Amino acid sequence: MRSFNYDIPTKVYFGEGKIKYLPELIHTFGTKVLLTYGGGSIKRNGIYDEVQELLKDCEIIELSGIDPNPRIETVREGARLCKEHDIDVILAVGGGSTIDCSKVIAAAAKYDGDAWDLVMDGRLITDALPLVDILTLSATGTEMNTNGVITNFDVKLKKGTASYHTYPYASILDPTYTYTVPANQTSAGTADIMSHTLENYFQEEDNAFITDGLSETILRACIKYLPMALENPESYEARSNLMWASTMALNGLTSMGKGGGWTTHPIEHYLSAYYDITHAEGLAILTPRWMKYILSDKTVDRFVKYAQNVWNIEDSGDKFKMAEEAIEKTYQFFVDNGLPMTLPEVGIDSDEFFMEMAKGTEERLSRAYVPLNADDVVEILNRCMTEGYN
Ligand code: NAP
Ligand code: FE
Repeated sequence: MRSFNYDIPTKVYFGEGKIKYLPELIHTFGTKVLLTYGGGSIKRNGIYDEVQELLKDCEIIELSGIDPNPRIETVREGARLCKEHDIDVILAVGGGSTIDCSKVIAAAAKYDGDAWDLVMDGRLITDALPLVDILTLSATGTEMNTNGVITNFDVKLKKGTASYHTYPYASILDPTYTYTVPANQTSAGTADIMSHTLENYFQEEDNAFITDGLSETILRACIKYLPMALENPESYEARSNLMWASTMALNGLTSMGKGGGWTTHPIEHYLSAYYDITHAEGLAILTPRWMKYILSDKTVDRFVKYAQNVWNIEDSGDKFKMAEEAIEKTYQFFVDNGLPMTLPEVGIDSDEFFMEMAKGTEERLSRAYVPLNADDVVEILNRCMTEGYN
């Protein structure tokens, strides 16, 4: 195992009804609140009214309409509101887009320059307003990490920034708030959870037995509970397990004692920056093709572990056969749960920008589990144009 520090200040309030803690959490910082949310799902499912009722004594300024793949323009607007109204605390209610955007707003509210500077270089974040969030979609893990992923369509860049200052102060995780998440977002969210786990799982052998075991459990939970949530959207068992899987997959625990850079996320960020696609649909499309592309003598043992411990594939003695079966099962799981599995299905029907995007990923992918260059990435993207993962 590699050495590590683990230091996460976020308080987690998990379970039905935990919104009752909201007033005391907010009052820790004051009564001037910037309430941030997306396109209106929180109004349709009643969470907005609950928040208003609980925070009756607060002065609430609203920033609504935060888009999936949140934009730098929205961050700038949020920071402006914080400064203008001398906001004490930000309350983000929504999925990863709303919470990510709010993290960078919190930092930009304490910064004199342009918010995009903070996205380009997280080291410039030296302070931030406190952030409380109410998560409504199980996917990103943003509820217990520092990351804020922001898109700047002017320069065709989607980029994550991070700082110790952007950890949420507290996250309220009520699984019943995800009952209204539509089927396509439930599947995409689960694919994101799986992708975070797989990005950390497929790394050098570091004998990180506990960390790998946790990752395998998270993956098995996704495999068990996604179909259950689709079948019965109000299954507390399914929604609660998916919610905790979301948090555990990307709060650092799945990388403790391990190392190495990610692959499918850097590629997907270019797909979103160029085509504004749903983050995890891109990941679902990329993942089996990436797996197949990196399968080799060097990586096969890790795939065998994945095959046995995640997919219960029996030891046939033929390592490559077992690895291929695990990749096939990964692909089929996404198909069975309604995820689009080719780029044309998400509106990308030309390879026009493949090389341009691939070049953008090169620096990060030089540090990946299996380092890839631009030609490798173009090949993977080409394989994403048609069905099948070969
Ligand atoms: P999202 O973009 O926040 O939300 C997707 C859609 O789901 C929105 O249309 C939203 O509607 C709807 N929705 C959310 N909760 C709902 C509910 N309870 N009922 C009905 N509809 C609901 O999705 P996300 O997958 O959570 O976030 C994606 C973003 O996070 C991407 O930009 C991605 O790159 C980023 N990301 C961040 C991290 C990280 O570590 N921070 C990791 C991976 C990905 P409304 O807008 O109307 O609410
Ligand atoms: Fe992700």
